[in-house]
Amino acid sequence: MANEKNLQNIIAHCKEYGFVFPSSEIYDGLSAVYDYGQYGVELKRNIRDYWWKSMTQMQDNNIVGLDAAIFMHPTVWKASGHVDNFSDPMIDNKDSKKRYRVDHLIEGYAETLDKESGDALLQQMDALLAANDFAGLKALIESNKIKCAISGTCNWTDVRQFNLMFSTEMGSVAEDANMVYLRPETAQGIFVNFLNVQKTGRMKIPFGIAQTGKAFRNEIVARGFIFRMREFEQMEMQFFVRPGTQKEWYEYWKDARMKWHLSLGIPAEHYRFHDHVKLAHYADAACDIEYDFPMGFKEVEGVHSRTDFDLKSHQEFSGKKLTYFDTEINQHYIPYVIETSIGLDRTVMMILSESYLEEDLSTAEKQDSRVVLKFPPMLAPIKLAILPLLKKDGLPEIAKELLNECKPHFRCFYEEKDTIGKRYRRMDAIGTPFCVTIDHQTKEDHAVTIRYRDTMTQERIPLSEVKNLVLEKTKMF
Ligand code: ATP
Repeated sequence: MANEKNLQNIIAHCKEYGFVFPSSEIYDGLSAVYDYGQYGVELKRNIRDYWWKSMTQMQDNNIVGLDAAIFMHPTVWKASGHVDNFSDPMIDNKDSKKRYRVDHLIEGYAETLDKESGDALLQQMDALLAANDFAGLKALIESNKIKCAISGTCNWTDVRQFNLMFSTEMGSVAEDANMVYLRPETAQGIFVNFLNVQKTGRMKIPFGIAQTGKAFRNEIVARGFIFRMREFEQMEMQFFVRPGTQKEWYEYWKDARMKWHLSLGIPAEHYRFHDHVKLAHYADAACDIEYDFPMGFKEVEGVHSRTDFDLKSHQEFSGKKLTYFDTEINQHYIPYVIETSIGLDRTVMMILSESYLEEDLSTAEKQDSRVVLKFPPMLAPIKLAILPLLKKDGLPEIAKELLNECKPHFRCFYEEKDTIGKRYRRMDAIGTPFCVTIDHQTKEDHAVTIRYRDTMTQERIPLSEVKNLVLEKTKMF
């Protein structure tokens, strides 16, 4: 179970093998901001590519892409409701001065209780959140004697709302400068371009627009490694439908997105749906797809039925018509929207959590173990390691020829140094699914030893078949 894995070991492994580094580490890091290293960047790109192709290329010619800017006109965020509503109820501990998100504080406490009492507490919390009952939330914290982890006291302020958007100024002189926000979600770039894409792409409803890109949130409690960051990447798709059909499409996308998750080879019992009780200001139905992270089941993706809230609001604030003419029913209307929104970094963390394994390989004769990342082969940063057994006798030449044949097709790694056993272990640690060794016999029989990461079994295959074997086993579709 992913749940039994130790998050600290995964974080340490990510740092040691060049997946994820704390941002600006030589200055002691920046809270909840991370950089992806040489293997992390490849893993992240592969996940992004898989999502992108699944959501555009593999659809029925009805979902197209977009790459909108991070900066947007400030009124966008008035219209979207983020200026007024994108806030979380917070509470401060008066002794430690530490600020907590109320739901996180209560959830953290609920985890320390037995299941029945924990669930009952969360139900009470959900009801109070749904009613925006801040006094009730404070009373719930006090009556349960929930303490601050730092001061250990229950000396709390009142519960208040805190906006999560970052702002900055655009313009060269202070007087002319306009306040702009760093987008807290990518979706609004899609809404404001809805008609541009629909008209120029001659799109017919139902159709979708997909986008990946950075989003920024001034998260108060940023924790859990790359689970909750202040700068992160989202992969979102807005699907525009005829009003009245949103329920069907909501169910369709819930199902389609769960299938996508299962296609990563992750067992169904590591996922669950969580239906929202308190709906966001724009939604008429919403659920999370939760994954069993090392710290328990948490959201990795949201599927939201956003109604016509966003387009209607942009039409009002901009004064520009955002209606669609449906030729099938001869009617103008503002489309309804189903959104699928998944965090790329959270997906990276999900894949790392699922793939990370500490295996005991001890035999009667000797103690042995390995750390292996059993990534789905299509997502592995390096697909093939090419390892000449010796640095001489023409073996590197044969190996480099293979490298030149393979590198236009997939990412390879070439290494001559160290014993073959050590080289295999390093490849296990970064999740390389295939290693081939070129030895003296290769010169005679034009065959190589291929070693499979997951089973560690080895077999001889013709040198000429390596490229096709790896291509076949690492293809996305
Ligand atoms: P949470 O409840 O965990 O704060 P959310 O419900 O606010 O998340 P959405 O607004 O639905 O999240 O965003 C969609 C997706 O974006 C989430 O499912 C998550 O994968 C990702 N995401 C949101 N906030 C962050 C963050 N601070 N760091 C990393 N990923 C995030």
